[in-house]
Parts: sequence; C-alpha cells; structure tokens
Amino acid sequence: MDMQGVVGVYSKQGACTKSLHVLYGVQHRGQESSGLTAAGDNSLRTWKGKGLASGVFSERFRSFMHPNDYAVIGCASGENADNGFPPVESRHHGRFVFSVALDGYFPREGGTNEEVVARSLHQYLSKGHGFTDALAETMRKHRDAYYSLVACVWDREESVSRLYAARDERGVRPLYVAANDASSYVASESAPIDVLENMGEHFTVRRDVTPGSILCIDDGGIEETQVLEPRRAHCVFEWVYFGRPDSVIEGRTVHAARKALGHALVELHGLRDEYGITEGTPDDLVVIPVPDSGRSVCTGVAEGLGFTADEGVIKNAYMGRTYIIDNPEFRKLASDLKHNVIRETVDGKKVIITDDSIVRGTVSESIAQNLIKAGAREVEFLVSYAPIFHPCFSDPPDKPLAARPYEGKSLEEIGSLISQGLPSINRVRYNDEEHILEAVGLPRDHICTYCVSGRSPFKP
Ligand code: 5GP
Ligand code: MG
Repeated sequence: MDMQGVVGVYSKQGACTKSLHVLYGVQHRGQESSGLTAAGDNSLRTWKGKGLASGVFSERFRSFMHPNDYAVIGCASGENADNGFPPVESRHHGRFVFSVALDGYFPREGGTNEEVVARSLHQYLSKGHGFTDALAETMRKHRDAYYSLVACVWDREESVSRLYAARDERGVRPLYVAANDASSYVASESAPIDVLENMGEHFTVRRDVTPGSILCIDDGGIEETQVLEPRRAHCVFEWVYFGRPDSVIEGRTVHAARKALGHALVELHGLRDEYGITEGTPDDLVVIPVPDSGRSVCTGVAEGLGFTADEGVIKNAYMGRTYIIDNPEFRKLASDLKHNVIRETVDGKKVIITDDSIVRGTVSESIAQNLIKAGAREVEFLVSYAPIFHPCFSDPPDKPLAARPYEGKSLEEIGSLISQGLPSINRVRYNDEEHILEAVGLPRDHICTYCVSGRSPFKP
C-alpha cells in the first residue's frame, strides 16, 4: 500500500519552476526521493536525488532549467533509493525519447514499475506505433496493473515536447488535471492545484483524470483518449489516510470524509452513552488526535460527542516517517523521539485518542505508554479505519498485520484482542466497512476495500 506523488506540467513559460511548485504539494505521498525530467531543447534531462524536493532542488537546479522545456514531469517517491528511483528516463533510438513516473503497481514483472512501462512502450514504439498508441497498447496489455502515470516525451521527428498522463481503468490511485490557455498541470491530488490558484493562476479545466484514459498535452491543448471503459475501484485508503485533507478526490473532500468517519465511530459504538456524556465537556475525559493522521477524524468524533477536542500529543515535524521502518525496535525508537505529550491535557484523565489506522500497533502502543507516563488514567484508541486483514496487492503477502489472525470475529472482539496485545491501551474501537463506505460517500461499487473485505477488484 505504498504510494507516490506524481506531477506533470506543460507550459511555454517556466515549466520547470512550475513543476517544482506542484511537486512540493504531493511530497506527503513519498519522502525517500524526488525527481524531475524536462523535455525540450532536443533532449530530455532528469534531475533526481534522495530526500525531499526542497533538498534535492537546490540553487544548482537553475542550470538545469531551459527556456524551451515545455513538458516536465516529476515525482515524490517512497521507493527505496538503493533500487534506483523514478522518474525513469528511456533513450529510445527512434523517433521518441521519454521519461515515466507513476503511482501504482505492475505485478509479476522484473524491475521497477517504471521500467516495466518503459520496456512495454519500447516494444510498441519499435513496431512503429505513435506514442499515444504505444501507451494505449501498454494499458490494454496490463489489465492487472494500476497506475496514475505521467510521461514527458521529446518527439525528434516533429521537434516538439509533449506531456502525457494516464490512469488505469479502475482509478485505484488519484490523478487530477487543471488547465488554462497557457498551461496544463497534472498532479496526484487537487491540493497543489488550489495552491497555484491562490498564487494567481486561473483554470478553465479542473477535474479528476477519467480512469482508463490518456491525456496527451502539447501546444494544441489537451487531447483525451478513452482507452478502456472505467471499472472504478478507488482505493478507500486515499480518503482514510493517503490523501491530503485539503484535497478533493473524485468530488469528495478528504477532510470531510475523515470527519464523517469520526461521526461514524461515535454512532457505531454509541459513544455518547458509553462515556456518559450529558452536556458540555466532561472534566475527566479528553479527546485528542494522533498528529497528523488522526486530526480530521478527531474533529468528527468531537463534533459527534458534542464537545471540543484538545491537543495532547505533539509531533516533531522534522523527524520524518516512522511507518516505513521495518525493525519494530527502531520504529518504537523513532516514534518515541517524534512524539511528546502535553501533561496538562491528559493528567488524571481518561484519554480518547483518534488515529486513522492500526497496522502493526507499534506506534499506537508507544504513544499510549507516554500518555500513561504523563498521568492518563486510561487510554482508548478510536480508529477511523477497520481492522486490516489482507495485505494490499503491492505489499508482500506476509506483511505483519496486527488484526490478521482475527478475521471473522466481531468488531468488538477484535478491538479487545488487539488492546490485550498492546499493554498501555485499554480499548480499541474500529469502524466497519459499512460505515466507512458511507462516510466516503461515493457509490460503494466504485471503492476498493480489499484490505478489509478481501473482495478484490482484480478478481471478478
Ligand atoms: P503501526 O500500527 O504499523 O505501528 O503504524 C500505524 C500508523 O502508520 C498510523 O498512524 C498510520 O497513520 C500510519 N500508516 C498506516 N498505513 C500506512 C501506509 O500504508 N503508509 C504510511 N506511510 N503510513 C501508514
Ligand atoms: Mg499516523
């Protein structure tokens, strides 16, 4: 279930700078490496490195920007940097040179996802297909893959650069497009497009890229080709955790969906009665989020309970990611270094703490331990997602999942079994699939809940 942020810009003015502006806005989707490829001036140039875009694209990057680079793609990747990272540039010694980056997964093939796509494109290009055709054929051939893809192409024959975007027929990962007469933008999410608008850009086009379609963008504007009929299976975790709260994915604001998940928890578990809430804020109870992923759900829970949430755990924003650390000992160390508790908020109180998900439970237990040390009487976890039983298609099948052994048991029972395994946590309450789908609010057969339900959109 790993993700990546992708961006694309077509503009005759400052395409590189603009793409960097958008890249900052998708950095939450991957922090291991950052890269851009520019197409123009008879060539393709890629600039990439380990770490955040703000570090990789220093002053030295200026020498990379050419005035005739019109098509630029970029990505913020969670890819282990030692395996090589995207974008992947491909020097086809025919008519086209191109570079690809994607957020998604191609099963059962050698190399990185981008290398699989590049190989397939080569294969069709060398048969004489045009680039759009080669991409369409690649999409038809890989019906079991999912991808939100960007590519920039230098066409040697016509001496023009083009930007491409494509999204798999299920639309598992988000992809957004915005355009005006002068420029077109593609990005994993809508939030960085808002930022451009705030900075003075006006758009006549603003929408999700249709699943199964290709956008070819150049001087002539956007040309759309619907290659495959949409068979929507949007990953539900985009609204639960992956997406920025300020993004709108398929018409649904992520923050609003998360708040609805909070309301759902209150309703599903009858929490007002459970906590004996009559009026106002009870003085022996406090509701706080795990920052930042538990924030929006916390607002929803507080709204549902009828009182204000507080801040009790503060995150050191400079510590980076704890989730991707495999070794549980190091993950606990990283979490301990990253989180501190405001004693005054929690001392002597029953602490209700919200988070989006419990995967292995290490982070939750370490936070709960520190809440107890700061004087919390009890710690109850409210989890906006449901127990996860099935590793996602792109995850190793033996991925450790705390709830996996308990599939088939009731929500209540799973919550109590999980909390038994996490000594500092008195209680864990989850959402169920029904309430999650309702909170997201899209037609339920358009949403993938495989990790919860085991129903795969890839197996009819
Ligand atoms: P764990 O239970 O494994 O110790 O960690 C759970 C935490 O990791 C949650 O707070 C959640 O926000 C975050 N998380 C859950 N799934 C993912 C994922 O697929 N990728 C990343 N980067 N973080 C995740
Ligand atoms: Mg989290």
